[in-house]
Amino acid sequence: MHIWDGEFFPTFPLVPGHELAGEVAAVGAEVEGLRAGDRVMVDPTVTCEGCHFCMTQRQNHCLHWNAVGVTRDGGFAEYVRVPAKNCYRFERVSFSEAAFTEPLACVVFGQDRARIALGSQVLVLGAGPIGQLHLQASRANGAAAVTVVDTVESKLELAAKLGAAHTVIADGDLDTKLRKIARWGFDVVIDATGNPRALAQGIAHATPGGRVLVFGVCSPDAKVEVSPFDIYRRDLEIIGSFAIRRTYDRAFQLMENGVIDVKPLIAEKLPIEEIGRALELMRTGKAAMKLQITFDGAA
Ligand SMILES: [Zn+2]
Repeated sequence: MHIWDGEFFPTFPLVPGHELAGEVAAVGAEVEGLRAGDRVMVDPTVTCEGCHFCMTQRQNHCLHWNAVGVTRDGGFAEYVRVPAKNCYRFERVSFSEAAFTEPLACVVFGQDRARIALGSQVLVLGAGPIGQLHLQASRANGAAAVTVVDTVESKLELAAKLGAAHTVIADGDLDTKLRKIARWGFDVVIDATGNPRALAQGIAHATPGGRVLVFGVCSPDAKVEVSPFDIYRRDLEIIGSFAIRRTYDRAFQLMENGVIDVKPLIAEKLPIEEIGRALELMRTGKAAMKLQITFDGAA
């Protein structure tokens, strides 16, 4: 939606779609290791491998950063042209699950940044697809208990099924309820809402010495009021996490081996003709979970 609205630095005109999987139709003359008919998912990140940030292992900040579906044509089309090195072959999962590797790879990078220690208490704000991935990844990283907050009961029910120790409705009593669960605060607070007010509230629930992962995408002009004294006094770390940094393969391993289940996060698959309706469902908050666009009824 951010890309559609022009907020997330897209280059127009553009065919969006940066979470994608499909079948190889044809390969270029110099391509090795891929052939027509292979089932592949695509890491959308296209980097130069020569600039300062690529050479210092920060490819997500490449000075010539491009991404399939963001700055070059993406997956909302029957055919898309992508670099062969961005394709990962898969066999055991569906196209639908494989397309989920992209957000999961972002989550894996965020989890690396947040450094969740064995036995931690984690708070995840937002129980949409990203919050549900962070919940499962936090558990895989050894969190003792993950608490998930949202305004929608059905999303919290899914979080409980996926292993949340506590689920809490975001209402006027949220602070009190969170204090009951973690009296001294949470070791790691992850914002998966992109809502600046939720983030501000989350910072207050980080334990002294704790970390706050800013993961949900706020609009570029949003501001959060934070107290520098509070950050100083409580030894807080406020951590950003942008996109993917070489985490595609690990994300897929987590999915293929069943450590992270993305199937319950797919609400509906729609044909491309219905993309307008899909975006409207997203915009009005009526999408139950992830909506995916398919061609020819591919599963
Ligand atoms: Zn670069």
